[in-house]
Amino acid sequence: MDERELPGSDPTPESVSGPPYPEDFAPDPDWDAYLAWREREIAAGRCEAPPEPWEIEGPAISLSLGDAADIDPLLLAAICGPDGLGGDGLGPQFGQDAAADMLRPSSVLAALTEQASADLSRLTDNQLLGVLHAARRLENRAHYLQTRVIAEFARRRDEEFETAKARGVRAGCRAGEFPGVELASELLISRLEAGRRIDSAISLTTRLPRSLQGMSDGLIDAERAGIIAAYTACLTPEDAAKADEILAQAAPDVRADTLARRAAALEMKLDPEAARTRKESTKRAAQRVEVQLERSGNASVAGRELDIADALASKANIHSTALRLRRGGVEGSLDHLRVKVFNDLLQGRNPFDRLAPVPEAPADDREPPDDPTHEVDKEPTENTVAVNDPGSPDAPVPEDPADDWDCADDPAADGLAEDLHEYEYRGGRAGPRGHGDAAIGIWPRSGDHPSSDEDPDNEDDGATWSSPADDAVPARAPTPAVINLLVHAGTLFGWDTTPSEASGWGLLNPVETRDIVRAASRHPQTRWCVTLTGPDGTAVAHGCSPGQHPWSPVAPPDREESPPPDQPNTRQAEQFFELVRALNVTLEPIARGTCDHRHAEDHYTPSRKLQHLVRARNATCTAPGCQAQAIYADLDHTTPYPEGSTDECNLGPKCRTHHRAKQAPGWKVEQPEPGVFRWTLPSGRSHITRPATY
Ligand SMILES: [Zn+2]
Ligand SMILES: [Zn+2]
Ligand SMILES: [Zn+2]
Repeated sequence: MDERELPGSDPTPESVSGPPYPEDFAPDPDWDAYLAWREREIAAGRCEAPPEPWEIEGPAISLSLGDAADIDPLLLAAICGPDGLGGDGLGPQFGQDAAADMLRPSSVLAALTEQASADLSRLTDNQLLGVLHAARRLENRAHYLQTRVIAEFARRRDEEFETAKARGVRAGCRAGEFPGVELASELLISRLEAGRRIDSAISLTTRLPRSLQGMSDGLIDAERAGIIAAYTACLTPEDAAKADEILAQAAPDVRADTLARRAAALEMKLDPEAARTRKESTKRAAQRVEVQLERSGNASVAGRELDIADALASKANIHSTALRLRRGGVEGSLDHLRVKVFNDLLQGRNPFDRLAPVPEAPADDREPPDDPTHEVDKEPTENTVAVNDPGSPDAPVPEDPADDWDCADDPAADGLAEDLHEYEYRGGRAGPRGHGDAAIGIWPRSGDHPSSDEDPDNEDDGATWSSPADDAVPARAPTPAVINLLVHAGTLFGWDTTPSEASGWGLLNPVETRDIVRAASRHPQTRWCVTLTGPDGTAVAHGCSPGQHPWSPVAPPDREESPPPDQPNTRQAEQFFELVRALNVTLEPIARGTCDHRHAEDHYTPSRKLQHLVRARNATCTAPGCQAQAIYADLDHTTPYPEGSTDECNLGPKCRTHHRAKQAPGWKVEQPEPGVFRWTLPSGRSHITRPATY
């Protein structure tokens, strides 16, 4: 900000009271001559008179910063006063209701906020939170800008699409056909999320002017705007405008979940039929079971977009069963018992088998809940169990979304899983890296040419399997899988001489890994592969083991005896080496950098070996931001066959969506070196994706 441009900023107005010229400014005879000439010309009518000083000072050409950005005079004084931007004058302006606290988002507020946050220690609590609010208003304004950009982007693609359609271009080849896929790759978000942002942006810019204005003013954030857009999507433009008026007004002052409830109620009131349609169509389009990795490294299973009645009945059943287990003496918190019941039911076990002698179930399940002082507005907390006990399936279920069982605040639960398969079975690679040398990833089998719609677990070959008899817990159902044993190169080559380096299973939770691998290895369709990873964690070689290798640890270690990851355990190392040897694998190098075409094949469909080499190298779809696992993805010839070869340097996994998008106008994929892909999107921007890092 330039102080010289600010009116009244000069505390010592020398230019008015001082001498006509500064001392070092000598009178200029040429200038005087010019002025004399000009006066003569004007007098002779040959030149227009110059404007008088008062004419140039009119409001038409002087714009004060205060006018431009609603700046309060006091705030201006604080900025421009003797303390200036670096002084102590600014902090108080962020106090509640002070000038900066009231300032709408603009470049001025951005500059002030940056300045005020340069040294947070100088701010009082009140001022500190004022800076927080200012940053939020700026953020909301930034979302407003994004919303307008996304809407314009979508409008352009839509125009291209309609033009192509009108010209009779067939589906799949029309320009502008995949705006969501393109946006997802650009922003590295899921397609579901990209689609939602586009829908939301179009609604906000075309039929929700009040909400859009609220974002522009920094008062409504992206989440609340998204809620308003979602709940008005099925309303007529007139009803949407009414809802917009009401909800935009309420949005800045209520929590997002409260706004969602109000929006739902309003939608129901304005157009009950539309509300029902929205629910039904979402259920049809998005009902699914999600298996996801949690950020902690654990996993979750969830049924999404279920009937409310179904969800409540399941909840009540799980809860009452857990209560009966507890009364029967099964240990653990109610949370843990409910999870046990949940897993038992999903995996076809009877939860009551957990009770030693099966007790007669009492007719009445009602029992005091853990915390009888359940409060309606209680915030969910991490470790306390505050169950509003439904008691029996017939008992009324609380409406309070803050019920700790409803996990309404889980951001990860929202819209991440565009594809059930994307997050599945990644547990083997979930552990933090760098604590060990070997890991196991499991690729579920689904045939040689799996489609992304296939669910390998639906395969029922009628095979029988034996579960470990010595297991205290009910056996896990074995899963047919390709067990991909990841071995770090250093470990393998250094093994014989320094077995102590091999912390074996240390990278993963050893017990979990054993359980999963042991169960999977018993399935007759399961096969083993070994992927060798280099120093950078990418795959350098891969080998497929022939035949079946049912595996169980020689002596399952005591859970208590698991050594810390930094301590060598010779027995584990030996056992691991035994396994690798037993698999009898011939490792094939994976082409990197350049390709010597040693694995090139003279037919269209790559062999199983070549498929594995490519999928070991690129473990997910190669499109930017796509997480679809390679095992479910098509192996695509980057340059179409037969001009392009069936070879490591010309193959890469692409999920069905990106395979289709790639064929549309404006999309281009190149493979400048094996495993490195350059995707050019219809916008002309390009993004590079690289081999997987394990
Ligand atoms: Zn393999
Ligand atoms: Zn090649
Ligand atoms: Zn993809």
